[in-house]
Amino acid sequence: MSLDTLAQERRARLAAERLLELKQAELFNANKKLSNHARNLSDEIIVKREETAVLKTENVQVLEDLERANCAVHIAERRLWDSIETIEDGFAVFDPSDIMIAANPAYLSVFDGLEDVRPGISYTEILGLAVEEGIIDIGDRSRSGFVEQALQRWRAPTREPHTIRLWNNQFIKLVDRRSAEGDMVSLGLNITDSMRYAARLKEATRKAESANRAKSAFLANMSHEIRTPMNGMVGMADLMSETELNEEQKLYVDTIKSSGEALLSLINDVLDFSKIEASKLSLNPNPFDLERCIQDVIVLLQPVAQQKNIDLIVDYDMFMPTCFVGDQGRMRQILTNLVGNAVKFTAAGHVIVRVVGLPEDDGRSQRVHISIEDTGIGIAPEMRAHIFGEFNQVEDERNRKFEGTGLGLAITKQLVALMGGDIWVDSEQGVGSCFGFHCTMDVVNAAQDVPELPSWMHRAYLVDHISANSAILEKQLTAIGFDVTPMDTSQALLDSPLDGDIYLLDNNLPNTDMGKLIAEIRARGVTAPVLLMTSGPVSAAALEHDSTNTLQKPLLRSDLCHALAKLLPAKSTFKTEDPNDRQMRILAAEDNKTNQLVFGKMLKNFDIELQFADNGREAIEYYESFNPDMIFMDISMPEVDGKEATRAIRAIELTNGRHIPIVALTAHAMAGDDQEILAAGLDHYMTKPLRKAAIIDQIQNQKPSHCRAISPDETAPPQSNPQVSVMAGE
Ligand code: ADP
Repeated sequence: MSLDTLAQERRARLAAERLLELKQAELFNANKKLSNHARNLSDEIIVKREETAVLKTENVQVLEDLERANCAVHIAERRLWDSIETIEDGFAVFDPSDIMIAANPAYLSVFDGLEDVRPGISYTEILGLAVEEGIIDIGDRSRSGFVEQALQRWRAPTREPHTIRLWNNQFIKLVDRRSAEGDMVSLGLNITDSMRYAARLKEATRKAESANRAKSAFLANMSHEIRTPMNGMVGMADLMSETELNEEQKLYVDTIKSSGEALLSLINDVLDFSKIEASKLSLNPNPFDLERCIQDVIVLLQPVAQQKNIDLIVDYDMFMPTCFVGDQGRMRQILTNLVGNAVKFTAAGHVIVRVVGLPEDDGRSQRVHISIEDTGIGIAPEMRAHIFGEFNQVEDERNRKFEGTGLGLAITKQLVALMGGDIWVDSEQGVGSCFGFHCTMDVVNAAQDVPELPSWMHRAYLVDHISANSAILEKQLTAIGFDVTPMDTSQALLDSPLDGDIYLLDNNLPNTDMGKLIAEIRARGVTAPVLLMTSGPVSAAALEHDSTNTLQKPLLRSDLCHALAKLLPAKSTFKTEDPNDRQMRILAAEDNKTNQLVFGKMLKNFDIELQFADNGREAIEYYESFNPDMIFMDISMPEVDGKEATRAIRAIELTNGRHIPIVALTAHAMAGDDQEILAAGLDHYMTKPLRKAAIIDQIQNQKPSHCRAISPDETAPPQSNPQVSVMAGE
């Protein structure tokens, strides 16, 4: 073998050995990697195995929880159904397409025996079956009409509970409510017992109401029956007190009169109370003059106040209207109660009635506030609410001596409430009380005519020792344009320059002889008119001076203005026309002879021609033959009653174009009677027992201008004392 060959072989072997080494190294590396990977894998397997074990435990736990939850749901569902099944009211659930999902036995029992009514049935089918089988009483509706109406209700967005009546006279109240998911839950509540109870209650109420009506009617009739003889008693006592009597007789007569009046007011209170109780008391709104109404009340209470030396003062806002639409009678009753109490519970000082108004509704109505302020015994704070209760009075040492029923304020409160108002009281014991109330009334003539003063009136001297009186009058006189000089003593007047255009003097100035005072100022050259403000008689000495007039207190704004308008300036002359022509003719239809006697005696001294008719038929005859200027018409009369006679007279008047004033005289006192009477064509309405002053008032109001004055007192006196115009009250 050549050397080359050997070398070649050696080189080849070496190359192979190197390759082998290389491959061995590669193999080693690969082995190493493989073993690393295998180690990693086994680690991962261990982790996964642990994780699997945890998951397995958790899974078992979840399965156990689920089992428990399922079990709880089952129990809850069973309990719920057990409960629903035991309740006596019907319960059912419908799915959103109105298919019954479930219902309790009470619900299903209504459809007793109808197999089809069970879960799976639709609401429409249930209705159809209920109607067809006569399960529901559909009244006088048609079957289809009933079903349609029920479905409408069922499908409405919201529905009120609805009561149905079943064939067996059971009443079921259906309360259906849709859930947020659209299911409808229907409850059928059996309200038969409460329906029966309500029916029994209704029947009992009806019976009680009819008994109450009977009681009211009985009271009204009794009051009618009692008033008629009392008319005779009070009227006769009134007349008798005007005759010559000795001290003792006068005492007897006055007692008869005051007892009669007290009894009458008691009857009125009890009657009103029974009407309020029976909710029968209603208002009868008509136009009326509020200021005059207050004045009437004051005039009525004046004698008692004077006996106690209490001043009654009215402060009626000068720029407030006086004519309102309201129930004058009830307003007078409220005021009589409140002012009457104020006088009753005041021993000395004054009682002021203040009236202010707030325009409402563009001046078409006014919220009228009336307060009655006294300087009396006052009311303890804890008693202020109590006294508005029925038959409630303050009973303490100071109060025990006062008479009363304790009904007045209870009735007053109800009357004010009926007028839509409110009443309150403010009081301090030993200082006085202030009762106030408000109500809103329509104004009759919103354009308040503030009177124009005669052009010569500028300066007014006002002398009054009562500061409240003086302040109010000063305010009123200033409001109508006077320059007022107020004073409180006669000496202050005598010390003044005496340059007034008019002099307003209080007739009861202390330590003053009015006759002498007027003589003194006349002697000093005062010729301007003097107005004496008085609540009682005025001395003849005071009146004998020219241009001296009287004004009755409390002053009515309109009276004051009229009196001022009639005055003539100092040193002027005055001419009166004499319109006297003939006597006023008055026809009085009255069947009761005693009443005729009382009526005749009351008018005995008046310059009138009085004719009586014994019944309505005669009244119609006399209407034509006697040609009266006014008629007083009793309502309850035999043969033809007052309403019928009036209707007949009004029918005759359609042919002669006249309208004779007819005033109803009645003892009826039930609400509504007056409307009925006025509807028959009567113009006014007077309740018996009749008062002389009220009758004279009516006659004065109706006297035609061509008839002569009915009383010598009212005749305009001759030239010597041209301006005397006594505005006396009762
Ligand atoms: P009566 O006056 O008939 O007792 P009322 O209901 O009118 O009944 O009054 C109830 C009570 O309220 C009175 O008894 C009296 O105690 C008290 N009272 C009413 N008004 C006044 C007042 N102006 N001052 C003091 N107490 C009053």
